[in-house]
Amino acid sequence: MKHRELSCEQVIARLFDYLDHELDDRQAAELEQHLARCRDCFSRSEFEKRLRARLADSATQPAPPQMHRRIGRLLDDFDDAPPTC
Ligand SMILES: [Zn+2]
Repeated sequence: MKHRELSCEQVIARLFDYLDHELDDRQAAELEQHLARCRDCFSRSEFEKRLRARLADSATQPAPPQMHRRIGRLLDDFDDAPPTC
């Protein structure tokens, strides 16, 4: 069986699934083979990886205190409101 080569378009189309670990082992291996050979796709995947790492970092940072206060106030208002039923 002839080895199936991925085109750059196919690699880019699957890149997000790859980064999300949603490809099966064979698909991931094919993609990695392409990345090992293709500089364009490799740098593209590195860029996406770094971007994701950064987004993940900012998502895990605690919410600013003002936001907590605002939510607390909303909850207080809710407690003070007369029952509606
Ligand atoms: Zn490529």
